[in-house]
Amino acid sequence: MSNQLTILVTGGAGYIGSHAVLALQRAGYKVIILDNLSYGHRDLVEQALKTELIVGDTNDRALLDQIFATHNIAAVMHFAAYIAVGESVSDPAKYYRNNVAGTLTLLEAMVAASVKTFVFSSTCALYGVPKFTPLTEDHPQDPISPYATTKWMVERILADFDAAYGLKSVAFRYFNASGADPDGLLGEDHHPETHLIPLVLLTALGKQDSIAILGTDYPTPDGTCIRDYIHVADLAQAHVLGLKYLLQGGNSNMFNLGNGNGFSVRDVIETAQQVTGRKIPVVERDRRAGDPPILVGSSDKAKEILGWKPQYADLQQILAHAWQWHQQRHGVK
Ligand code: UDP
Repeated sequence: MSNQLTILVTGGAGYIGSHAVLALQRAGYKVIILDNLSYGHRDLVEQALKTELIVGDTNDRALLDQIFATHNIAAVMHFAAYIAVGESVSDPAKYYRNNVAGTLTLLEAMVAASVKTFVFSSTCALYGVPKFTPLTEDHPQDPISPYATTKWMVERILADFDAAYGLKSVAFRYFNASGADPDGLLGEDHHPETHLIPLVLLTALGKQDSIAILGTDYPTPDGTCIRDYIHVADLAQAHVLGLKYLLQGGNSNMFNLGNGNGFSVRDVIETAQQVTGRKIPVVERDRRAGDPPILVGSSDKAKEILGWKPQYADLQQILAHAWQWHQQRHGVK
């Protein structure tokens, strides 16, 4: 395609970023990935995405200037960030340095290169403890971890960069990203893993003895936390739509991305037993600090403005895709 646009995707070797790269490629865009490989996977880029990987950091201004000078970049999608909430409490400097300072450096390099279209990976965690659910974009923002604060700060920076420099952005506030590419090319592989669905499936695979339910005394019907699990392929598709919206002249905006259905920890484990056909041993543990009882979002705004239509809102399907991936990744299939 001669008029193929080139998109720079930071963090494209990570979980959500890699799925976004695949969605961009399937939509006809050329992609260049910038990833420092601190958590990303080179093998996925080489085998599944087959696109240019620049190994480097968003804090490296000279590298960024060189990338913008040597490639005709139409827009940036920014996924590169640290994501472990607990670690952000014990080592906030690491999070502010990478997630805020790194993003600021990237945005400054963009403005200098006159690249003014930006899609940002944000989080529903910036709302803090919900005052009402489903959460809408106008819910008050009160982040309770350094991780969530970094995303909140970047959204503030984006508003100011639009006002001052005309940089247009879409920020997507994700609920619980989950699942894997339906065709089995990509999936979730965090080290260390802290997320419920991969840990449940690793238990099904026998990689750990049991799954811990972290809190059984929440004010929910079965006593466990309720979350809004959104399929990563649906997230990825939203990013393509957000990009098109900006390229067609859309104003800066932010959107929740969730599926609007809440599932408890016990629902997830029960459904995983059905999907895998395996018994998944459970141990009940105390609550984890900072977990609100219920996090469920409304994504009506993304549906209305971007025309987003999630394809995989069913928990069974999310788990089936994740299970296919985990079996492959661990050599079972
Ligand atoms: N959870 C759990 N056991 C685990 C990991 C998570 O019971 O080993 C619970 C966690 O307390 C939360 C839900 O599962 O209520 C989803 O947690 P996850 O870390 O996947 O995502 P989060 O909601 O924290 O972004």
